[in-house]
Amino acid sequence: MTGKSHGINTICTHTGELEDKQFKGAISPLYMSTSYAFEDVDVKRYPRYFNTPNQVALAKKMAALEHGEAALIFGSGMAAVSTSLFAFLHNGDHVVLQNTLYGGTSNLVVEEFAKFGIEYSFTKDLKPESFEAEIRKNTKVIYIETPSNPLLTITDIKAVAEIAKKHELVSMIDNTFASPVNQNPIDFGIDVVIHSATKYMGGHSDILAGTVISSEEHINTIFQLAKNFGGSLSDYTVWLLERSIKTMGIRVKAQNKNAKKIAKFLERHPDIEKVYYPGLKSHPDYALAKSQMHGFGGMLSFELKAGLDAGLFQKKLNLIKSSMSLAGIESTILSPTLTSHALLTPEERENQGIRDGLMRFSLGIEEKEDLIADIEQALVEVRS
Ligand SMILES: *Cc1c(COP(=O)(O)O)cnc(C)c1O
Repeated sequence: MTGKSHGINTICTHTGELEDKQFKGAISPLYMSTSYAFEDVDVKRYPRYFNTPNQVALAKKMAALEHGEAALIFGSGMAAVSTSLFAFLHNGDHVVLQNTLYGGTSNLVVEEFAKFGIEYSFTKDLKPESFEAEIRKNTKVIYIETPSNPLLTITDIKAVAEIAKKHELVSMIDNTFASPVNQNPIDFGIDVVIHSATKYMGGHSDILAGTVISSEEHINTIFQLAKNFGGSLSDYTVWLLERSIKTMGIRVKAQNKNAKKIAKFLERHPDIEKVYYPGLKSHPDYALAKSQMHGFGGMLSFELKAGLDAGLFQKKLNLIKSSMSLAGIESTILSPTLTSHALLTPEERENQGIRDGLMRFSLGIEEKEDLIADIEQALVEVRS
């Protein structure tokens, strides 16, 4: 069963499932073997070779979800990011990266690349010409992330993919924030799509995983390094992830809906300075987001009015928990100033547009009325 002919929820539910020939069970059997007999088989099956039955089955689902030819499943999002980058970047090569990247990815680049003789440039902003401006003779890869964390900025996927093609570079995107439900970058010409499956794919805050989707050729290049790096995922977790993805379409659509409703509620609220959500007409890149996303996602950020304490606001919320991670079925919130961006100086934060009153909000699937009531009561407490 190939994915492209089916709709998202059908792919989520069925594509790649393993048939239980022995007992006719409804769901894929779990094969935990790390050892497979050589006799009469042409593949050497081993979990670190990314080719156990459950890994191969889930990779088919991933490829179908992102309209790619092939996929690999990794032990974390960062294993997927690092293996993909290192697979195409060698000593003496250069990579152009978007200036607003997930913190772990920035750390990987800034802390590790020099050791391997890999040069890098961050763009000055998200305009396509700013990516082209950074390209050098030895550039091999362009890397983007949209919508970005935590300000939900939007990068023009098609324009960047075209620049990459023109200069014969491999284009990569971190598609985690959108999920395959809301955005399929391969349709816009991107070569390599990466997800932290810990987020929307897992969706229940109980799985750490990653995935990469691309052409057969690029996946083979990444695989050659992946088997040496050894970042594969336990088959038990692969099996859990397959189960989680069955409901990803309906989960993410519910999260999109909640995010849009809450974004509109916050935009009208007198205690809120600003709302960052690509699905709001007030977002500077609303039209661009609309042109490349099927839905606007379950992530938004907002700023409390000056004088309202973000830390206190967070403490006064009852239903909405503060948490570092995101994309679960439960709504979570964090203050970047107090957590993810705490190590930066106030000036560095200001340069990145991270104000003290900023809150990053990951919408769950709760009833929107209950979320609004929780926010209202917390704001009353913070004001008093
Ligand atoms: C969480 C995250 C990652 C890293 O994924 P892990 O599964 O934590 O390794 C990468 N990119 C984005 C956008 C993320 O949110």
